[in-house]
Amino acid sequence: MAFNPADKIQDLQYFGEFGGVNPSISDSSTYTFLSAKTMFDTFEGNTEGCYLYSRHSSPSNLYLGEALAAMEGTETANVTASGMGAITAVILQLCNAGDHMVSSRTIYGGTYAFMKNFLPKFNIGTSFVDTTDLEKVEKSITEQTKLIYCETISNPLLEVTDIKGLSAIAKKHNIPLVVDNTFSPLTVAPAKLGADVVINSLTKFINGSSDAVGGVVCGTTEFCLSLKDVNNGAGMLLGSTMDSLRAASILKNMRTLHIRIKKHSDNAMYLAKNLEQAGLKVVYPGLKSHPGHETLKKQMNPEYGFGGMLTLDVGSLEKANRLMELMQEKNLGYLAVSLGFYKTLFSAPGSSTSSEIPIEEQEAMGLSNGLIRFSIGLDNDMKRTFEMMKSCFKKVGLMH
Ligand SMILES: *Cc1c(COP(=O)(O)O)cnc(C)c1O
Repeated sequence: MAFNPADKIQDLQYFGEFGGVNPSISDSSTYTFLSAKTMFDTFEGNTEGCYLYSRHSSPSNLYLGEALAAMEGTETANVTASGMGAITAVILQLCNAGDHMVSSRTIYGGTYAFMKNFLPKFNIGTSFVDTTDLEKVEKSITEQTKLIYCETISNPLLEVTDIKGLSAIAKKHNIPLVVDNTFSPLTVAPAKLGADVVINSLTKFINGSSDAVGGVVCGTTEFCLSLKDVNNGAGMLLGSTMDSLRAASILKNMRTLHIRIKKHSDNAMYLAKNLEQAGLKVVYPGLKSHPGHETLKKQMNPEYGFGGMLTLDVGSLEKANRLMELMQEKNLGYLAVSLGFYKTLFSAPGSSTSSEIPIEEQEAMGLSNGLIRFSIGLDNDMKRTFEMMKSCFKKVGLMH
């Protein structure tokens, strides 16, 4: 039977310490030991299931990690204080000074800035390539290359990665494939397609209420333990630890993730089809016109749809700004960065979330300044929403 991530989450069962239907929250930063010897063993990493200090691990964080590992189909997972906390820890764990990575050129702006501006401090270099071109990826690998990095569906251009194809190249060169799955939880399970490490920003769809920042690294027990190692683990030493109260609240929101993702996808598909029919330049992986449509179809769990993200190129930044302001006035959504909220969120990535990427490079990758990124919300009646949107499109001359 095919791997279904929502079923895996549902199969987990944990009770609170007093029989609560939610696990008890561990409101402690440090933990007692009955014997001094056990404390020593725990420091040495020899005692499974003993808690030491909450930067290392805590019961609430382990519960959330367990649910995320079940979702991604990995042995285990470490939760982190943010998506960037997960990304930076993974890269710094895998690379030493002088090493090199091959990364997709269309990635989250913060990840791009970290690779391009920050890692050179440690003489870690990145080749940014079009990862949909497998030949280019392979040609960019050098003796120093320690990992291949990409997003399942990229931010903001919605390029679709052939994860199986990339994984074959990574395996051939004996390096890990690291995949950021933030845009496509449940829809795609990258680890099942050969990714070695799967990262998610929990801030987006997974938590889904725009009230928390969080991240996760899903991978093998060996890799996740190495991140937590008290002597040389990047997760442990860089300190991007999630708070236990937050872990408990995100776990509760995860229980509706499958319902939300289906609705986000249905709404986005409805809107994308109608915008395309109206002759607008819409990009959505669920449309046959999308270059990655077939690739995504081969990799996805069809019941969760093609995700909640779409982009629309309206030609200029002025038009984009006017349209977004109008849509916000009509209460069709918020002019805000981020994604995965119940309300539709829209922003122009060229001047916001991807502004870390220099203009020339934005142009080279096809990120035009009239591009609007939409995270489609959970609107009950998308037909009604589209009718209201049309009036805004008419006002800026995009429809007649
Ligand atoms: C938001 C985002 C991140 C960063 O996550 P934070 O939780 O904001 O640190 C990483 N990757 C993608 C694709 C994102 O959208």
